[in-house]
Amino acid sequence: MENSRTLRKWLDDMALPHPLVIAGPCSAETEKQVMQIAHDLKDTDVNYYRAGIWKPRTRPGNFEGVGAIGLKWLQRVKEETGLKTATEVANRTHVDLALEHDVDLLWIGARSTVSPFIVQEIADALEGTDRVVLVKNPVNPDLSLWLGAVERLHSAGIKKLGVIHRGFSTYEKSKYRNIPEWQLAIELQTRFPDLPLINDPSHITGKRDMIFDVSQTALDLNFDGLMIETHCDPDNAWSDAAQQVTPKRLIQIMEDLRIRKETD
Ligand code: PEP
Ligand code: MN
Repeated sequence: MENSRTLRKWLDDMALPHPLVIAGPCSAETEKQVMQIAHDLKDTDVNYYRAGIWKPRTRPGNFEGVGAIGLKWLQRVKEETGLKTATEVANRTHVDLALEHDVDLLWIGARSTVSPFIVQEIADALEGTDRVVLVKNPVNPDLSLWLGAVERLHSAGIKKLGVIHRGFSTYEKSKYRNIPEWQLAIELQTRFPDLPLINDPSHITGKRDMIFDVSQTALDLNFDGLMIETHCDPDNAWSDAAQQVTPKRLIQIMEDLRIRKETD
């Protein structure tokens, strides 16, 4: 993959703030829920409003997302709040629908990054578009698989590329839902210092009371941004209830974080 300034350039060109903040519910559940959270996040540090429309669940039988109707709700978010929108895509149909509904940022989830065929299908569907595309790390700690996905998108001409560190599955008992293995993110930073790197403390911790500390660690390590799941009624969320924070808590977290300046 080419180095490197061109990779970061889109962040500068779009004049996005540091840290970049992506927040919103794990899943879009109802139009009311999506709109309420979006209005609570308007006029905060949040740049992109995330909501999962298609939810890849590890086991069947759980809520698998509202589907394409949720894209209309995201369009309404953009119209009413001015927030940019973000959702996960896992195949060509998702990409086509998300582009039709003007979603600003698409991300590839951890369960898709492990599959070169799926990543290639998504890359082909995105060819010639100028959306921001972020690649979550694969569920297993495999840097090549993560970079391979980035390379496929890069080869398809995607310029606004970045990665999301969401931790790695482990069979060991751990206080984390997905262990961070910070050294992997650091190696990626060392090899591609200008590939924008976002931290996802929600899926790393699985617990809302650990979100602040992991976010601070990420910022201390010079990450470029944070993706934090945010819900108006976290305890009753239809997915990932234990890790979501309220908009009020998110605002407090952002206020309390020590942000490293370039000159520090
Ligand atoms: C999500 O962002 O809600 C999600 C499913 O994440 P991951 O792919 O990291 O498990
Ligand atoms: Mn989630």
